[in-house]
Amino acid sequence: MTIQVLPDVVVAQIAAGEVVERPASVVKELIENSLDAGARNIRVEIAGGGRRRIRISDDGAGIIPDEVALAFHRHATSKLRTTEDLSFIETLGFRGEALASIASVSQVSISSRHQDFPVGVLMQLEGGEITSHQSIGASIGTVITVENLFFNTPARLKFLKKENTEKRHIALFITRYAMAYPHVRFILEQDGREVFRSSGSGQLADVLVSVLGLDSFKNMVEVSGQEARRDNRYASINGFTSVPSLHRADRNHITLFVNGRWIQDMRLSYAVIQAYHTFLMTGRYPVAILMLRLPTEEVDVNVHPTKAEVRFRDTDSVFSALQRAVRRAVVDLAQTPAMRGGRFAGLTGGLDHLPAWATNPYQNQLDMNLALDSPGQHRRQSLWISDDAHLDPTEIPTDMSAPVRPRTLPILRVIGQVGATYIVAEGPSGLYLVDQHAAHERILYEQFMAELKQHEPTAQLALTAQTVTLTTTEARLIEEHLITLHEVGFELEAFGPNTFIIRSVPALLADAAPAEVLRGIITDLEAGNQPAEASIENKIITRVCKQAAVKSGQILSPDEMQNIIRQLERCESPHTCPHGRPTMLHLTGEQLAREFGRLG
Ligand code: ADP
Ligand code: MG
Repeated sequence: MTIQVLPDVVVAQIAAGEVVERPASVVKELIENSLDAGARNIRVEIAGGGRRRIRISDDGAGIIPDEVALAFHRHATSKLRTTEDLSFIETLGFRGEALASIASVSQVSISSRHQDFPVGVLMQLEGGEITSHQSIGASIGTVITVENLFFNTPARLKFLKKENTEKRHIALFITRYAMAYPHVRFILEQDGREVFRSSGSGQLADVLVSVLGLDSFKNMVEVSGQEARRDNRYASINGFTSVPSLHRADRNHITLFVNGRWIQDMRLSYAVIQAYHTFLMTGRYPVAILMLRLPTEEVDVNVHPTKAEVRFRDTDSVFSALQRAVRRAVVDLAQTPAMRGGRFAGLTGGLDHLPAWATNPYQNQLDMNLALDSPGQHRRQSLWISDDAHLDPTEIPTDMSAPVRPRTLPILRVIGQVGATYIVAEGPSGLYLVDQHAAHERILYEQFMAELKQHEPTAQLALTAQTVTLTTTEARLIEEHLITLHEVGFELEAFGPNTFIIRSVPALLADAAPAEVLRGIITDLEAGNQPAEASIENKIITRVCKQAAVKSGQILSPDEMQNIIRQLERCESPHTCPHGRPTMLHLTGEQLAREFGRLG
């Protein structure tokens, strides 16, 4: 074939492919234009999954009559003038490509009236060519109707997903933007039926209730963080993230916005997931809606035509700020799963719509008045017992040089054991059922991590040479992680191709069969049946603690139970085991009273 310059129409269609991939991309671009125009009400109507028709009506500023045609030219924009402006983009659009791209692959009708003009313009285009242009009376704002998308690009049409898939994608986009712009009212109608509406009240919590449903929303906690930047400017993180008991099977429920722009960023999603380390089980992910605000020059939004990717000037600092903010929210508010969730019954309207326990997780204890005979029960519910006045005389720490750890649970009185598996305890706010194995795992895990953090040599137990023979792949896995194993307290020595001599193990494992522990570690490393994003070291430690912890089915003496409970009360995260499973169930006095019909 000879070389020829492509006709404009073909160039436009090729370029359109980058911006307009599917009906949902049209919706996204048009909504972004409406938001840039300052709309407070945006209505989206779609028919046939968006392929037959997409109509977006807004009450934004509108387009100046003389410029309506210009808006459909490629690289025509009112949002950018110079290259320097690129560093200070405050609008969602700036490339001037969307309208031109959409028009080149569909039939478009636009009616727009600018706020400073008495009349508007009605214009029609087909495959990018203007077919009619006239003045009309209209209210301020813009209505764009896109019909028969990809009618002139059959190849693209073939690749479109099923109508229902497109519908889902469009709904997803609308709900995302509704979350990022709570002061804008969004309405979505599919085939004449309203399927979503946000209130436009300005409260993210309101939008979340309509997006997630009230039940899920009750399990969200608020995230907020702020960091100083240069020139008196700030970077901030706001939003909501799920308590550990609310999780999903994939990471798509982590929604991130940077400066009002929805973005996809594997690293930042990972920062959120990491914040849940030891709180969530393998393969489970949190639900989060987080808005990052950064000085515009710290973000490069011009990475891709769809603008769903951004680059940060300092990715690491954004990553760790996000991780810290989420972690703080999760650790602060990690809470006992209440039986039947009755504790959440009274969702408060005020206080930024947070459930009562979120602002004070111990609130229920304060208004309870169960008669208890354990000392210290009416003590001030202080989280920190740094001064002696708050020390319970029954629990003088054995090692006085060790810093007293802050209390994270109220003082519990052990009542007994059920099924050789659960410890029954009573606290100022009711009944606690503690899984002895999970609780002990948590205790050992935190002790181990604390030692490691202080760089104390891990206590080791020397063994009279025991050997273990593994399969070839198992042996390679162990070899690969010899150093980490060593740091944690395992001394292994190769003895033949697939055999190791075990010289020592972490002291915790005094009662465990070393070969069995090693096999357990291999299983964990291979199968990844450990918290989703755990490091190798963490996986090993979690396994060690699992092996060392008391088992279910083991009968415990009152002293042993008391010991577990005392230590659990001072764990940083007493409510979950290192795998993220709950360590306890809590039945409040109020719930008990309700169950027994004592409450009116
Ligand atoms: P960009 O958004 O990158 O500027 P577009 O092709 O999406 O490019 O839009 C071109 C121009 O048309 C915009 O810069 C804006 O001035 C105008 N425009 C598009 N949609 C609207 C709208 N809904 N309300 C007001 N002006 C609009
Ligand atoms: Mg645009």
